[in-house]
Amino acid sequence: MKDLQINQTNLRLAKGDITRCEVDAIVNAANESLLGGGGVDGAIHRAAGPELLAACRLLNGCRTGDAKLTPGFRLKAAHVIHTVGPVWRGGTHGEAELLASCYQKSLELAEANGIRTLAFPAISTGIYGYPLDRATAIAVGTVRTYSENHPQTIITEITFVCFDDATFRAYEQAFEESE
Ligand code: ADP
Repeated sequence: MKDLQINQTNLRLAKGDITRCEVDAIVNAANESLLGGGGVDGAIHRAAGPELLAACRLLNGCRTGDAKLTPGFRLKAAHVIHTVGPVWRGGTHGEAELLASCYQKSLELAEANGIRTLAFPAISTGIYGYPLDRATAIAVGTVRTYSENHPQTIITEITFVCFDDATFRAYEQAFEESE
């Protein structure tokens, strides 16, 4: 399994807990309220401390497919990018476009805020039920296209953090198929 180097940006896979990542920003798979939830969202709020919820309250929520920035507070990451993935409803409700938009908007927000290293969870593939192989193909495809279209990007490293083996295998497959 090798990394993908696209222009300035290294795309890599890692196993583990995103709250422990030493990167400039971690991405949170949030819900539209931005007021915390289960899964990775709950883990990020626990690790960042109550200041994160206070910061999120000021943002007035976030639409599905959009992304918003807060500090990382007690996390090693200086920033959290909160994005809201689509709930899977069979695939005919714009889910693919909305999921791609999560990655695209997160990258644009990172770029605009001087973020060089970024870690993504597998957005929508937990509680929101997005089929893993389709979601990882969209994640890798969108990030790859961004890197190809932004040869001067300041983002040098993008890590897909996999919480379980099935997710890791799905990303490995998506990396292979994107080559
Ligand atoms: P969604 O509501 O967008 O589906 P979830 O948090 O339920 O979000 O799941 C998204 C992905 O994040 C799943 O692959 C889940 O296993 C994973 N996940 C849960 N906790 C963590 C964590 N601490 N670090 C990285 N990934 C995590």
